[in-house]
Amino acid sequence: MNLVLLGPPGAGKGTQAKLLEDGHGLTKLSTGDMLRAAVAAGTELGRKAGEIMERGELVPDELVIKLIAERMDEGAAGQGFILDGFPRTIAQAEALDRLLAERNKRVDRVIVMEVDDEALVERITGRFACANCGEGYHDIYKPTKVPGVCDRCGGTQFVRRKDDNEEVVRSRLKAYHAQTEPLIDYYTRQGKVRTVDGMADIATVQKDIDKALDGVCA
Ligand code: ADP
Ligand code: ADP
Ligand code: ZN
Repeated sequence: MNLVLLGPPGAGKGTQAKLLEDGHGLTKLSTGDMLRAAVAAGTELGRKAGEIMERGELVPDELVIKLIAERMDEGAAGQGFILDGFPRTIAQAEALDRLLAERNKRVDRVIVMEVDDEALVERITGRFACANCGEGYHDIYKPTKVPGVCDRCGGTQFVRRKDDNEEVVRSRLKAYHAQTEPLIDYYTRQGKVRTVDGMADIATVQKDIDKALDGVCA
């Protein structure tokens, strides 16, 4: 089964993608993570994408489509994919349909996570992650169990994203409403959309997503 998680910045896509990966044996593909890795590695793509990301705008379609295409045949993707942060434009959604069709696959379900804009700013400004294993946390909503120690790996170094500040979040939200929200219609016409209340706590959202996957073949 191939799933798309669709929602604004801070909606909880990364958090739920990780839970789905652990619980359903799916492979998470996150263009945000791939782009940040390219920026950190200083590749040509990273140099092109870095400034755009710092402004909170979208990286050009052809660059992210290429990234996804390269990853699609790698690793243990047998059970399917969870796409987190891709597609973000209609052109990307069309490219994804083509890439999957070439492999006799398709998008089976699109989970739309709804969260109010004000709550998103609070989520984004409190977000941090383990520098070692990447596990995501939040100052208030998902602190580490032991202060300063990663629950998953015991690491003690944490990172915050450069674009996770209020000003850049506003521009990311604008990009979401203008360029990504139209995808809800695109996938609704294909009968693939299920909406979940992303304002609920992490465990409740996880249960609601599981329910929204009922009837999708494994
Ligand atoms: P996205 O990938 O959609 O940008 P994340 O999964 O990184 O979002 O979540 C953004 C922040 O909000 C993180 O710090 C995460 O721990 C926290 N978070 C995720 N889901 C919830 C939730 N349901 N309630 C409260 N905080 C949440
Ligand atoms: P968010 O927490 O906002 O959902 P992501 O980690 O998915 O953040 O993305 C961070 C940034 O990377 C975006 O603001 C954008 O600049 C870039 N990016 C990630 N995925 C895409 C994509 N599919 N298309 C264009 N730009 C992308
Ligand atoms: Zn860790």
